Amino acid sequence: MKTSAVAGRTPAPIRYRIEPIRPEAHLFEVTLEIAAPDPLGQKLALPVWIPGSYLVREFAKHIVRLEVRDERPRSRLQVAKLDKNTWAAGPATGALVVVYQVYAWDLSVRAAHLDTQHGFFNGTSVFLRVVGQEHVPHEVEIVAPRGPAFRDWRVATTLPEHGAKRHGFGRYRAKDYDALVDHPVEMGVFELLRFKACGVPHEVAITGRVPKLDAQRVCADLQKICEAQIRLFEPDSASAPFQRYLFLVMVLGEGYGGLEHRSSTALICSRESLPAATGRDPGESYGSFLGLASHEYFHSWNIKRIKPARFAPYDFDRENYTSLLWIFEGFTSYYDDLVLVRTGLVSEQHYLESLAKTITEVEGARGRLRQSLAESSHDAWIKYYRQDENSPNAIVSYYKKGALVGLGLDLLIRSASRGRRSLDDVMRVLWVRFGRDFFPRGAHGLGEDEFAGLVAESTGVDVARELRHWAYGTADVPLAALFKPFGIALRTGSDAAHLARPTLGVRVAAEGSAARLATVFDDSPAQRAGLSAGDVLVALEGLRITPGNLDVLLERYRLGEKVRIHAFRRDELIEAELILYAGPPVQWKLSFEPGPKRLRQAWLGAS
Ligand SMILES: [Zn+2]
Repeated sequence: MKTSAVAGRTPAPIRYRIEPIRPEAHLFEVTLEIAAPDPLGQKLALPVWIPGSYLVREFAKHIVRLEVRDERPRSRLQVAKLDKNTWAAGPATGALVVVYQVYAWDLSVRAAHLDTQHGFFNGTSVFLRVVGQEHVPHEVEIVAPRGPAFRDWRVATTLPEHGAKRHGFGRYRAKDYDALVDHPVEMGVFELLRFKACGVPHEVAITGRVPKLDAQRVCADLQKICEAQIRLFEPDSASAPFQRYLFLVMVLGEGYGGLEHRSSTALICSRESLPAATGRDPGESYGSFLGLASHEYFHSWNIKRIKPARFAPYDFDRENYTSLLWIFEGFTSYYDDLVLVRTGLVSEQHYLESLAKTITEVEGARGRLRQSLAESSHDAWIKYYRQDENSPNAIVSYYKKGALVGLGLDLLIRSASRGRRSLDDVMRVLWVRFGRDFFPRGAHGLGEDEFAGLVAESTGVDVARELRHWAYGTADVPLAALFKPFGIALRTGSDAAHLARPTLGVRVAAEGSAARLATVFDDSPAQRAGLSAGDVLVALEGLRITPGNLDVLLERYRLGEKVRIHAFRRDELIEAELILYAGPPVQWKLSFEPGPKRLRQAWLGAS
């Protein structure tokens, strides 16, 4: 993309005005003013995806009505739709004004949502890109909805103010289109918490009711996470890559998810995951909230600033392919929990339990033998983000196995360098080389084949062979051996009885009182007998199957025994005979062993 700016002249900014014109109908109206449109006809495009979420989501489908005016003379201009997300306005003699409405009713961190309680939007859902003028400054006036019901509404965003007061409606300004769409905006009546991390102001804007929230605890815990991460990347200066940071938190009865941005993140969490000042302990669910916040915050470095070369710059019109998401999502998943244990927010014992759970999940599915992490990253758009009944048989998660590769590399580097180097050193070199000194100007990214060389350079440890097998092949990370020098044992935690328990090799989903097959694992007794995903199980040896009783029914049989199953497929009764096998995935367990603790302490202790 190129700027239309003429050397020596300051280009006129692109101006947007966004107003929640009908919150009850979930409609934003956007007015876009282009002072110097392309004289041959101005193209306008809405992104088809939002960075961080690798699926084409076709945000343009929510544009309800679009009109274009020429300001001189004031007249309506023809506008043609060129493809699903691109418009072309007829040649204009003066400034161009585009008015359009956006339907906003997607309660997620990825799009836009508006009702009478609050409004939220990502720029990728609401701001048309003025093709050819992406690099000029972009201004936006955020207007309050009309009426006394909205008098108390405020704005939370890290878009730089350009006339607006902090948390007020009014004018904001971004240096270019990329920046404009990388600062989500929340509006409404939210609770605002504040703390500083390494001297940098951080805010938490909480939308949704949380009675007696223990704000102090949330701030204190988030502060520990943020400071640990800032110091991980900048141990000497402890300087953050932004001047302020904002956690936008949407609290729901149930929900979980987050999306990273350059100086903010949008999170969705459940009400019960937040602590109450009455001392009620939310237990593990609070740990998962902190883990989510830690994950998205780590992305401030790892993907928002250090990024694959293939993402520099983003192409908003189509899929952007990279085989490196296992580094950007996997390593981020490795560090999100590691930071919690290093800061003492979770115990070492608890950390080992959660690692063991990840190992069990990754090694329990056959898909890991069919798809490499590099392939999983590349095909995220059509596979990881579009999972179906066959996914466990066909794909591997670049989050979960990617985290295990991060762990494996960290352990390997620490052992091989006798504790002098670690994956932290690799992250710092990535940061200096691709992030700190280059973002945002002239951003260049990590090449598809550059990573192994960088590890060798930053740690002196050659991991090329391991990466070939673990990330570009389908080998399991040999964690039992890698854990040994750390005084940690990886063993199966399944007792003989558990391993000898017969199964059908299926995953069952409850549909009311019916048990529908959600997944039939490859080569399982169920598959061999011809049962398929979608079948509704009816009876085992003449006894009714419900979603909850299948395991109990099976307990009366032994491995190798033949059982008769009835099921409905497309409402027709079918009968299958199958031979039971031992299928429960092996449960892995990690435990501390007596012996030297030096490497382990350096790994899990404060960095
Ligand atoms: Zn992530």
